[in-house]
Amino acid sequence: MTSDGDKSYVGRFAPSPSGALHAGSLVAALASWLDARAHGGRWLVRIEDLDAPRNVAGAAERILDQLDRCGLRADEAPIRQSTRTSPYEAALERLLAADLAYPCGCSRRDLELAAAPADGERYRHDERVYPGTCRDGLKGKAARSTRLRTDRSPRGIDADTGTVIAWTDRRLGAMRQDVAEEIGDFVLKRADGVWAYQLAVVVDDAAQGITDVVRGEDLAGNTARQILLQRRLGLPTPRYLHTPLVLAASGDKLSKQTGAAPLDLADPLDALGAAGAVLGIEARGTSLADWLVSAVADWHRRWPLP
Ligand code: GLU
Repeated sequence: MTSDGDKSYVGRFAPSPSGALHAGSLVAALASWLDARAHGGRWLVRIEDLDAPRNVAGAAERILDQLDRCGLRADEAPIRQSTRTSPYEAALERLLAADLAYPCGCSRRDLELAAAPADGERYRHDERVYPGTCRDGLKGKAARSTRLRTDRSPRGIDADTGTVIAWTDRRLGAMRQDVAEEIGDFVLKRADGVWAYQLAVVVDDAAQGITDVVRGEDLAGNTARQILLQRRLGLPTPRYLHTPLVLAASGDKLSKQTGAAPLDLADPLDALGAAGAVLGIEARGTSLADWLVSAVADWHRRWPLP
Protein backbone atom coordinates (compact mmCIF):
# COMPACT_ATOMS: atom_id res chain seq x y z
CA MET A 1 0.00 0.00 0.00
CA THR A 2 1.39 3.39 -0.94
CA SER A 3 1.01 6.81 0.59
CA ASP A 4 -1.74 7.87 -1.79
CA GLY A 5 -3.50 4.52 -1.32
CA ASP A 6 -7.03 5.13 -2.51
CA LYS A 7 -9.35 2.59 -0.98
CA SER A 8 -12.01 3.44 -3.49
CA TYR A 9 -9.83 2.63 -6.50
CA VAL A 10 -11.20 -0.31 -8.47
CA GLY A 11 -9.47 -1.41 -11.66
CA ARG A 12 -10.08 -4.26 -14.05
CA PHE A 13 -8.63 -6.36 -16.83
CA ALA A 14 -11.30 -7.43 -19.29
CA PRO A 15 -10.00 -10.01 -21.76
CA SER A 16 -12.12 -11.56 -24.50
CA PRO A 17 -11.60 -15.35 -24.51
CA SER A 18 -10.85 -15.47 -28.22
CA GLY A 19 -7.46 -17.00 -27.46
CA ALA A 20 -4.71 -17.15 -24.86
CA LEU A 21 -2.91 -14.01 -23.69
CA HIS A 22 -0.17 -12.84 -26.02
CA ALA A 23 2.67 -10.39 -25.43
CA GLY A 24 0.36 -7.43 -26.16
CA SER A 25 -2.47 -8.44 -23.85
CA LEU A 26 0.00 -9.08 -21.02
CA VAL A 27 1.03 -5.41 -21.28
CA ALA A 28 -2.57 -4.31 -20.65
CA ALA A 29 -3.03 -6.85 -17.85
CA LEU A 30 0.22 -5.86 -16.14
CA ALA A 31 -0.49 -2.12 -16.45
CA SER A 32 -3.98 -2.39 -14.96
CA TRP A 33 -2.69 -4.61 -12.13
CA LEU A 34 0.24 -2.24 -11.41
CA ASP A 35 -2.01 0.81 -11.39
CA ALA A 36 -4.42 -0.83 -8.94
CA ARG A 37 -1.61 -2.01 -6.65
CA ALA A 38 0.29 1.30 -6.87
CA HIS A 39 -2.80 3.18 -5.76
CA GLY A 40 -3.89 0.77 -3.06
CA GLY A 41 -6.92 -0.34 -5.03
CA ARG A 42 -8.70 -3.54 -5.90
CA TRP A 43 -8.15 -5.32 -9.20
CA LEU A 44 -10.85 -7.36 -10.92
CA VAL A 45 -10.87 -9.65 -13.94
CA ARG A 46 -13.90 -9.73 -16.21
CA ILE A 47 -14.17 -12.31 -18.96
CA GLU A 48 -15.82 -10.62 -21.94
CA ASP A 49 -17.33 -13.69 -23.54
CA LEU A 50 -20.49 -12.25 -25.13
CA ASP A 51 -19.30 -12.67 -28.69
CA ALA A 52 -19.92 -16.43 -28.69
CA PRO A 53 -18.81 -16.96 -32.30
CA ARG A 54 -15.37 -15.64 -31.36
CA ASN A 55 -14.98 -17.51 -28.07
CA VAL A 56 -12.41 -20.27 -28.09
CA ALA A 57 -13.11 -23.23 -25.82
CA GLY A 58 -10.84 -23.22 -22.77
CA ALA A 59 -9.38 -19.76 -23.52
CA ALA A 60 -10.83 -18.12 -20.40
CA GLU A 61 -9.29 -20.78 -18.14
CA ARG A 62 -6.02 -20.48 -20.02
CA ILE A 63 -5.96 -16.68 -19.58
CA LEU A 64 -6.66 -16.97 -15.85
CA ASP A 65 -3.89 -19.55 -15.52
CA GLN A 66 -1.46 -17.33 -17.44
CA LEU A 67 -2.28 -14.36 -15.18
CA ASP A 68 -1.82 -16.55 -12.13
CA ARG A 69 1.58 -17.74 -13.33
CA CYS A 70 2.61 -14.10 -13.71
CA GLY A 71 1.51 -13.38 -10.14
CA LEU A 72 -1.42 -11.19 -11.30
CA ARG A 73 -4.28 -12.34 -9.08
CA ALA A 74 -7.70 -10.75 -8.94
CA ASP A 75 -9.20 -9.64 -5.63
CA GLU A 76 -12.56 -11.22 -6.44
CA ALA A 77 -13.70 -14.23 -8.42
CA PRO A 78 -13.74 -13.26 -12.12
CA ILE A 79 -17.14 -12.55 -13.62
CA ARG A 80 -18.25 -13.64 -17.09
CA GLN A 81 -20.40 -11.33 -19.15
CA SER A 82 -22.35 -14.28 -20.56
CA THR A 83 -23.97 -14.67 -17.12
CA ARG A 84 -25.15 -11.06 -16.99
CA THR A 85 -27.84 -10.61 -19.59
CA SER A 86 -30.48 -8.92 -17.42
CA PRO A 87 -28.54 -5.71 -16.60
CA TYR A 88 -27.84 -5.21 -20.31
CA GLU A 89 -31.50 -5.78 -21.09
CA ALA A 90 -32.50 -3.26 -18.40
CA ALA A 91 -30.11 -0.62 -19.74
CA LEU A 92 -31.38 -1.10 -23.29
CA GLU A 93 -35.00 -0.91 -22.13
CA ARG A 94 -34.27 2.41 -20.41
CA LEU A 95 -32.73 3.87 -23.53
CA LEU A 96 -35.60 2.63 -25.73
CA ALA A 97 -38.20 3.98 -23.30
CA ALA A 98 -36.50 7.39 -23.34
CA ASP A 99 -36.40 7.30 -27.15
CA LEU A 100 -32.61 7.36 -27.04
CA ALA A 101 -32.30 4.07 -28.91
CA TYR A 102 -34.17 2.53 -31.81
CA PRO A 103 -34.45 -0.70 -33.77
CA CYS A 104 -32.51 -0.79 -37.02
CA GLY A 105 -33.43 -2.96 -39.99
CA CYS A 106 -30.32 -2.39 -42.09
CA SER A 107 -28.66 -5.49 -43.44
CA ARG A 108 -24.94 -5.99 -43.66
CA ARG A 109 -25.24 -5.12 -47.35
CA ASP A 110 -27.03 -1.82 -46.58
CA LEU A 111 -24.24 -0.96 -44.16
CA GLU A 112 -21.49 -1.72 -46.64
CA LEU A 113 -22.67 1.33 -48.52
CA ALA A 114 -21.85 3.48 -45.48
CA ALA A 115 -18.41 5.00 -44.96
CA ALA A 116 -15.74 2.60 -43.71
CA PRO A 117 -13.90 3.44 -40.47
CA ALA A 118 -10.70 5.37 -41.00
CA ASP A 119 -8.31 2.81 -39.58
CA GLY A 120 -10.47 -0.21 -38.99
CA GLU A 121 -7.61 -2.67 -39.30
CA ARG A 122 -5.79 -1.30 -36.38
CA TYR A 123 -8.40 -0.43 -33.79
CA ARG A 124 -10.75 -2.81 -32.05
CA HIS A 125 -14.53 -2.40 -32.19
CA ASP A 126 -14.50 0.20 -34.94
CA GLU A 127 -17.75 0.68 -36.84
CA ARG A 128 -18.75 2.20 -40.13
CA VAL A 129 -20.31 5.63 -39.77
CA TYR A 130 -24.05 4.91 -39.69
CA PRO A 131 -26.06 7.31 -41.86
CA GLY A 132 -29.14 7.16 -39.61
CA THR A 133 -31.33 5.31 -42.12
CA CYS A 134 -33.71 3.73 -39.56
CA ARG A 135 -33.74 6.60 -37.09
CA ASP A 136 -37.24 7.63 -38.05
CA GLY A 137 -38.74 4.19 -38.43
CA LEU A 138 -38.13 0.83 -40.04
CA LYS A 139 -40.22 1.67 -43.13
CA GLY A 140 -41.41 -1.90 -43.49
CA LYS A 141 -38.07 -3.58 -42.74
CA ALA A 142 -37.78 -6.15 -39.94
CA ALA A 143 -35.87 -5.04 -36.83
CA ARG A 144 -32.36 -6.48 -36.70
CA SER A 145 -30.07 -4.55 -34.36
CA THR A 146 -30.66 -1.76 -31.84
CA ARG A 147 -28.76 1.54 -32.04
CA LEU A 148 -28.16 4.51 -29.76
CA ARG A 149 -29.40 7.72 -31.29
CA THR A 150 -26.76 10.39 -31.32
CA ASP A 151 -29.01 13.17 -32.64
CA ARG A 152 -31.05 13.58 -29.50
CA SER A 153 -30.24 14.38 -25.88
CA PRO A 154 -32.17 13.17 -22.87
CA ARG A 155 -35.04 15.48 -22.05
CA GLY A 156 -34.69 17.68 -19.00
CA ILE A 157 -30.93 17.38 -18.60
CA ASP A 158 -28.92 20.18 -20.08
CA ALA A 159 -25.37 19.49 -19.03
CA ASP A 160 -23.25 16.88 -20.76
CA THR A 161 -25.81 15.97 -23.36
CA GLY A 162 -23.93 16.87 -26.52
CA THR A 163 -22.18 14.27 -28.62
CA VAL A 164 -18.80 16.02 -28.71
CA ILE A 165 -16.94 14.11 -26.03
CA ALA A 166 -13.76 15.61 -24.60
CA TRP A 167 -11.79 13.57 -22.10
CA THR A 168 -8.29 13.40 -20.70
CA ASP A 169 -6.38 10.18 -20.97
CA ARG A 170 -3.70 9.82 -18.30
CA ARG A 171 -1.13 8.89 -20.95
CA LEU A 172 -2.46 10.25 -24.24
CA GLY A 173 -3.60 13.59 -22.85
CA ALA A 174 -6.51 15.63 -24.21
CA MET A 175 -8.81 13.60 -26.47
CA ARG A 176 -11.92 14.62 -28.34
CA GLN A 177 -14.45 12.98 -30.63
CA ASP A 178 -17.77 14.05 -32.07
CA VAL A 179 -19.57 10.73 -31.82
CA ALA A 180 -22.53 11.84 -33.95
CA GLU A 181 -20.20 12.96 -36.72
CA GLU A 182 -17.43 10.38 -36.57
CA ILE A 183 -19.36 7.26 -35.56
CA GLY A 184 -23.06 7.98 -35.83
CA ASP A 185 -25.78 5.93 -34.16
CA PHE A 186 -23.80 2.97 -32.88
CA VAL A 187 -24.96 -0.57 -32.17
CA LEU A 188 -26.08 -1.59 -28.68
CA LYS A 189 -27.41 -5.02 -29.58
CA ARG A 190 -26.27 -6.75 -32.73
CA ALA A 191 -28.44 -8.32 -35.43
CA ASP A 192 -27.29 -11.77 -34.27
CA GLY A 193 -28.66 -10.98 -30.79
CA VAL A 194 -25.22 -10.43 -29.22
CA TRP A 195 -24.92 -7.52 -26.79
CA ALA A 196 -22.51 -4.98 -28.22
CA TYR A 197 -19.19 -4.49 -26.47
CA GLN A 198 -19.97 -0.77 -25.90
CA LEU A 199 -23.16 -1.43 -23.94
CA ALA A 200 -21.84 -4.36 -21.94
CA VAL A 201 -18.58 -2.64 -20.97
CA VAL A 202 -20.36 0.51 -19.79
CA VAL A 203 -22.96 -1.40 -17.77
CA ASP A 204 -20.35 -3.67 -16.20
CA ASP A 205 -17.78 -0.98 -15.42
CA ALA A 206 -20.53 0.86 -13.51
CA ALA A 207 -21.91 -2.27 -11.83
CA GLN A 208 -18.44 -3.25 -10.63
CA GLY A 209 -17.66 0.27 -9.41
CA ILE A 210 -14.67 0.58 -11.76
CA THR A 211 -12.89 3.88 -11.11
CA ASP A 212 -9.96 3.29 -13.45
CA VAL A 213 -9.84 1.72 -16.88
CA VAL A 214 -6.30 0.82 -17.95
CA ARG A 215 -6.24 -0.96 -21.33
CA GLY A 216 -4.47 -1.03 -24.70
CA GLU A 217 -4.34 2.00 -26.92
CA ASP A 218 -6.19 0.11 -29.66
CA LEU A 219 -9.30 0.59 -27.51
CA ALA A 220 -8.85 4.34 -27.01
CA GLY A 221 -11.15 5.04 -29.98
CA ASN A 222 -14.04 3.41 -28.09
CA THR A 223 -13.80 5.71 -25.10
CA ALA A 224 -15.91 8.58 -26.44
CA ARG A 225 -18.74 6.17 -27.32
CA GLN A 226 -18.52 4.71 -23.84
CA ILE A 227 -18.55 8.11 -22.13
CA LEU A 228 -21.57 9.16 -24.22
CA LEU A 229 -23.38 5.99 -23.19
CA GLN A 230 -22.44 6.53 -19.54
CA ARG A 231 -24.01 9.99 -19.74
CA ARG A 232 -27.15 8.69 -21.46
CA LEU A 233 -27.53 6.09 -18.70
CA GLY A 234 -26.57 8.46 -15.85
CA LEU A 235 -23.50 6.39 -14.93
CA PRO A 236 -20.15 7.71 -13.65
CA THR A 237 -17.16 8.05 -15.99
CA PRO A 238 -13.97 6.33 -14.83
CA ARG A 239 -10.44 7.66 -15.38
CA TYR A 240 -8.75 6.20 -18.46
CA LEU A 241 -5.17 5.26 -19.23
CA HIS A 242 -4.40 3.62 -22.57
CA THR A 243 -1.14 1.70 -22.74
CA PRO A 244 1.32 1.42 -25.65
CA LEU A 245 0.74 -1.42 -28.09
CA VAL A 246 3.12 -4.21 -28.92
CA LEU A 247 3.70 -4.20 -32.65
CA ALA A 248 4.46 -7.28 -34.71
CA ALA A 249 7.56 -7.29 -36.92
CA SER A 250 5.29 -6.10 -39.78
CA GLY A 251 4.44 -2.97 -37.80
CA ASP A 252 0.84 -4.12 -37.32
CA LYS A 253 -0.68 -4.37 -33.88
CA LEU A 254 -0.15 -7.76 -32.31
CA SER A 255 -3.55 -9.37 -31.85
CA LYS A 256 -5.23 -12.70 -31.47
CA GLN A 257 -7.07 -12.04 -34.73
CA THR A 258 -3.79 -11.70 -36.60
CA GLY A 259 -2.52 -14.89 -35.00
CA ALA A 260 -0.20 -13.56 -32.28
CA ALA A 261 1.60 -16.39 -30.52
CA PRO A 262 0.40 -17.20 -27.01
CA LEU A 263 2.75 -16.03 -24.28
CA ASP A 264 5.73 -18.16 -23.56
CA LEU A 265 5.63 -18.54 -19.79
CA ALA A 266 8.52 -20.96 -19.41
CA ASP A 267 10.00 -18.12 -17.36
CA PRO A 268 7.25 -15.69 -16.30
CA LEU A 269 9.91 -13.14 -15.30
CA ASP A 270 11.03 -12.90 -18.92
CA ALA A 271 7.48 -12.29 -20.10
CA LEU A 272 6.90 -9.68 -17.39
CA GLY A 273 10.23 -8.03 -18.12
CA ALA A 274 9.26 -7.66 -21.79
CA ALA A 275 5.82 -6.26 -20.88
CA GLY A 276 7.42 -3.92 -18.34
CA ALA A 277 9.85 -2.66 -21.01
CA VAL A 278 6.93 -1.73 -23.29
CA LEU A 279 5.49 0.24 -20.37
CA GLY A 280 8.84 1.92 -19.65
CA ILE A 281 8.97 0.28 -16.23
CA GLU A 282 12.30 -0.14 -14.47
CA ALA A 283 11.99 -3.09 -12.15
CA ARG A 284 14.44 -5.48 -10.57
CA GLY A 285 14.12 -8.79 -8.83
CA THR A 286 15.16 -12.38 -9.23
CA SER A 287 11.83 -13.71 -7.97
CA LEU A 288 8.41 -12.91 -9.38
CA ALA A 289 7.31 -11.38 -6.07
CA ASP A 290 10.35 -9.09 -5.83
CA TRP A 291 10.04 -7.99 -9.45
CA LEU A 292 6.37 -7.13 -8.98
CA VAL A 293 7.05 -5.13 -5.79
CA SER A 294 9.77 -3.19 -7.60
CA ALA A 295 7.49 -2.62 -10.62
CA VAL A 296 4.67 -1.33 -8.39
CA ALA A 297 7.06 1.20 -6.83
CA ASP A 298 8.24 2.39 -10.24
CA TRP A 299 4.68 2.59 -11.59
CA HIS A 300 3.67 4.63 -8.56
CA ARG A 301 6.41 7.13 -9.30
CA ARG A 302 5.54 7.40 -13.00
CA TRP A 303 1.74 7.35 -12.99
CA PRO A 304 0.28 9.34 -10.09
CA LEU A 305 -3.49 9.68 -10.15
CA PRO A 306 -4.65 13.05 -11.45
N1 GLU B 1 -12.72 -7.27 -24.02
C1 GLU B 1 -12.36 -6.11 -24.78
C2 GLU B 1 -11.47 -6.51 -25.91
O1 GLU B 1 -10.68 -7.43 -25.75
C3 GLU B 1 -11.58 -5.08 -23.97
C4 GLU B 1 -12.41 -4.46 -22.93
C5 GLU B 1 -11.85 -3.24 -22.26
O2 GLU B 1 -10.76 -3.31 -21.67
O3 GLU B 1 -12.56 -2.23 -22.28
O4 GLU B 1 -11.54 -5.93 -26.96
